Amino acid sequence: MHAWRPVEVPTIPATPGAYGLPDEVSLVTTDARRLVPVGPQQGVAGLYVCGITPYDATHIGHAFTYVSFDVLNRVWRDLGLTVQYAQNVTDVDDPLLERAEQTGEDWKELATSQIDLFRSDMEALRVIPPDWYVPATAIIDEVVDLIEQLRAAGSIYQVDDPRYPDWYFRAAQAPGFGEVSHLNRAQMLGEFAEHGGDPDRPGKEDALDCLVWRMERSGEPAWDSSLGRGRPGWHIECTAIALNRLGRDFSVQAGGRDLAFPHHEMCAAEAVVATGEPFAQSYAHVGMVSLDGQKMSKSLGNLELVSRLVNQGMDPMTVRLALLAQHYRDDWEWMPSLAESAQRRLDAWRAAVHAPTGTAAEPTLADVRYGLRTDLDTPMALAVIDEWSSAVLAGEGSDEAAPGQMAAAIDALLGVTL
Ligand code: ZN
Repeated sequence: MHAWRPVEVPTIPATPGAYGLPDEVSLVTTDARRLVPVGPQQGVAGLYVCGITPYDATHIGHAFTYVSFDVLNRVWRDLGLTVQYAQNVTDVDDPLLERAEQTGEDWKELATSQIDLFRSDMEALRVIPPDWYVPATAIIDEVVDLIEQLRAAGSIYQVDDPRYPDWYFRAAQAPGFGEVSHLNRAQMLGEFAEHGGDPDRPGKEDALDCLVWRMERSGEPAWDSSLGRGRPGWHIECTAIALNRLGRDFSVQAGGRDLAFPHHEMCAAEAVVATGEPFAQSYAHVGMVSLDGQKMSKSLGNLELVSRLVNQGMDPMTVRLALLAQHYRDDWEWMPSLAESAQRRLDAWRAAVHAPTGTAAEPTLADVRYGLRTDLDTPMALAVIDEWSSAVLAGEGSDEAAPGQMAAAIDALLGVTL
């Protein structure tokens, strides 16, 4: 496993309050369902973006998640905040083990090779690495400690199954359950079945109770613990990683919209029962990316991979610009024409920032910052930079510093190197 290389982020000067700019980032969060400030006014912003299950390569839908929240990271930094960023990697889970079994690979080797590929894709896309990138298998003790806190609160039980008495969490009894996703019970049951839950498992007290510790099955990895020999459930892994690194009540838990329920709802429920305090202050989700009319997913096999595009010779900055051209909360469809227009944009911007002079950078950057601080409006930011670049390429402006300032700002705020 190679290290996730750091990304240099230029600092670009900004005058606080100039151009009437908001001095905070606001997002339309899933829990608030309206535009609300995220992160503190000063100090440390805590970001947790749920990581991959490493059994298949990084597709455009994953990349959209990590690039979108990379922009949040960058915009917070631009506001002078320190960002603490944690991400997990679900390196022991049913889909990974099933894939390894199908292909005859060792599950650990499969995970390691896919984590390496993910990191190299993220590096190519200039995603600022998390401060903590934590495999579930490295924090089994933390998970067990957290489950013991839930046990002390009387909130877990063993399912009525003599062969596999797995441990479940009484999720729906947690204070505030439902306030992340705002789904009704029927919707929750549907989402739970679709996204890794087991509403129909016999012996559960309630269909929405979620697995926290799975007892050992023959041929599956397992760890000794006070709960018996087994392995963690999915949600509790992220809850433990986030609480032990970012602390309670950190700024944002984020991911694809399909994680709102059950995953983030369950994380929030587990944390509030274990600690008595809220988990994340806000929950933010990106839209779903489709290909050929269907949501891009491993199970359907309709994937466009970052590594495939790059190996075909596409500039990773073209991929990044194609992603940034979509608003993070929108659902959209990947198509080659998006890469073609991103390539034209990249070429134009590159020509403009290498021009000897241009129009002043500061008013343009104020508009870019306004867009990004207001629900990460990357399409607006791109349009504003397009206008600046068109003007420069038309020979307007005599500011010798402007092209260099714009190049640095586009790198700092959008992660696009020109
Ligand atoms: Zn997670």
